[in-house]
Amino acid sequence: MSELKLCQGPKCHQYQTKDRLKGMKDNKTYQTRRRSNFYYGNNNFCSWVCLNDWHSIYIEQALDHFGRTTEVKHLTEQNAWQKTYDWDNRTDDRVYVYRNGITKEERPLTREQYRDTNYTLNERG
Ligand SMILES: [Zn+2]
Repeated sequence: MSELKLCQGPKCHQYQTKDRLKGMKDNKTYQTRRRSNFYYGNNNFCSWVCLNDWHSIYIEQALDHFGRTTEVKHLTEQNAWQKTYDWDNRTDDRVYVYRNGITKEERPLTREQYRDTNYTLNERG
């Protein structure tokens, strides 16, 4: 059996839906949702509502913890690379490319590179 994850919504158990009501006959309580897969917030929240509850409570702490943007950032040739894809009409496949939003230069990209969130041509800053 696969490991079940708990919804990280701080108020998940407060929403009184049938699927959250669990336990023995006379001892049922509304509980945090457990599932093998969630679709919201990078697989951490059972619903948009639970994700939004987390945001409402923790967004300020998260910004303070990870650092706020304190200066205007500028789009330059060095940080204008964006992953995108076109369709190859002959094969009906995606053709992945890096496209520079300033110079319009394109460079080929593999599907693995496209999906790898750490892979980038952008320089820091
Ligand atoms: Zn939830």
